[in-house]
Amino acid sequence: MRKNEKIGPVKVQRKHTREVTLGSLKVGGRAPISVQSMTNTVTSDINSTLRQAKRLESAGCEVVRVSIPDEMSVETIKVLVSSLRVPVVADIHFHYRLAIDAVKAGAHGIRINPGNIGGKKKLKEVVLAVMDAGACLRIGVNSGSVEKRYRNLGIVEGMLASVESSLELITSLGLTNVKISAKASGVMDTIEVYRKLSEKVDYPLHLGVTEAGTRFSGGIRSAVALGILLSEGIGDTLRVSLAADPVLEVIAGFEILRSLGLREPGPTVIACPTCARAEFDVVKMAEEVEEMISGFRVPVKIAVMGCVVNGPGEALHADLGFVGSSGKVVVYEKGFKKSVINFDDWQRYLRTFLDQLQE
Ligand code: SF4
Repeated sequence: MRKNEKIGPVKVQRKHTREVTLGSLKVGGRAPISVQSMTNTVTSDINSTLRQAKRLESAGCEVVRVSIPDEMSVETIKVLVSSLRVPVVADIHFHYRLAIDAVKAGAHGIRINPGNIGGKKKLKEVVLAVMDAGACLRIGVNSGSVEKRYRNLGIVEGMLASVESSLELITSLGLTNVKISAKASGVMDTIEVYRKLSEKVDYPLHLGVTEAGTRFSGGIRSAVALGILLSEGIGDTLRVSLAADPVLEVIAGFEILRSLGLREPGPTVIACPTCARAEFDVVKMAEEVEEMISGFRVPVKIAVMGCVVNGPGEALHADLGFVGSSGKVVVYEKGFKKSVINFDDWQRYLRTFLDQLQE
């Protein structure tokens, strides 16, 4: 080894941003990079929105955002705020009054797009309401809805100009509890705009690729864009936008952060690629396991293997392994065959195992 060569894994050096407060969560500064998601239910349907928000929270989601397209949806904010432990953010487009009502209803933060909130006067009213409530405001510019006056500048410069002008107005009114996002649908545009933003401002940056796509293509595009930015130390909170169950956004977000050593190691699911020998639906079980353990902060490894060909070998190296065999599921725990259970019992077995881990 050469003299002065560093020992140990390479670490990302995070760029310094100021710390802001979103409910009980700190964002920016030295706070861990947080993972957000957004419900995709009809927000005014209180029961289904609450159910999904709770699933997100159980999966480890640290900020739950809901879109507020109408007055009825504001009622849901009140229920979410009183039922969840994590901060709730209201996402508002066009209707500045809804933004004001959302913070009055207890939303810990709002996200507005200055390009469509209705001009300076209305933005000012929103800012005053946010300050009054002690909430947090995200300036959320998207490449598809840049203010008209900046559209001729091109995607990146147009988004930057839009962020800068609204940031100037908002901070001049005295609000500094502010986060910023500037999401483009193109990966290279997203990288470029966030690199430039991070040079210009010290407010926390919320990373994301807008309209990223389905779970597969969207996951890859987000991992590429966010992975590059995070590896350069840029980003304080993120959402992996997917046209899919939002719980997958949370799983993907943590996976990206963990792959860069930016969050504590967590649970891992390994699964065989499945084939005609599989004794049960491996993909379905693996996905269900992934959701059940996604909120865990301990490094637990669970194996889901369709049959005895490779199953026992892999399961022996996991903390818990489920292997299909003769119509049953053989369970391995920390290297030992523990029991044989009926397929219908695997979820109960996993729940008990996880409860014991948390004791
Ligand atoms: S473990 Fe069994 S079911 Fe899974 S891929 Fe291998 S042979 Fe197929």
